[in-house]
Amino acid sequence: MGTSGNPALVLNADFRPLSYYPLSLCSWQDTVKSVFLNRVSVIERYDQIVSSPTITFKLPSVIALKDYVMPLRKPAFTRFNVFLRDNFTCQYCAEKYSANDLTFDHLVPKCLHGKTTWQNVVSACTSCNLKKGRKLLQNTDLKLLKKPMRPNSIQLQNNGRNFPPNYLHGSWRDYLYWDTELEN
Ligand SMILES: [Zn+2]
Repeated sequence: MGTSGNPALVLNADFRPLSYYPLSLCSWQDTVKSVFLNRVSVIERYDQIVSSPTITFKLPSVIALKDYVMPLRKPAFTRFNVFLRDNFTCQYCAEKYSANDLTFDHLVPKCLHGKTTWQNVVSACTSCNLKKGRKLLQNTDLKLLKKPMRPNSIQLQNNGRNFPPNYLHGSWRDYLYWDTELEN
């Protein structure tokens, strides 16, 4: 059937992902179970079909919980969460980009012993990142949009609200790539 690699993205009852860190996914087996237990609504489906003697249906790709769950976890320091904190906006030229067109820049460059931390890493487009290079900000003509801080989960969830479920569905697989923990 080839269904083993088809997890569903789990959205909270407010249609935001249950968590971004890591992105909330559910195996297809558990997804099917929760659909039959009436705990979730199916938002989108894969083309793959599962069948039993009594029923045939397309595997869900995006599901939403019927009951709202409070997000509890502290945000992990991941590439995706840095972009989400910065609203997918280059912190130098203030333009919005997709995750694929963003890089992250060390305010104090690594070669000057800058650390990879929430306070020293910002989202930057490729061209601003090149301009910044291995220099300190005061030695460039770039201006920082906002001082980078460690976000709490409510701030990240609020930023996530800017991304409608359809947008998320279209590209959620890409998010997995960005969801790996950064070094400290
Ligand atoms: Zn830029």
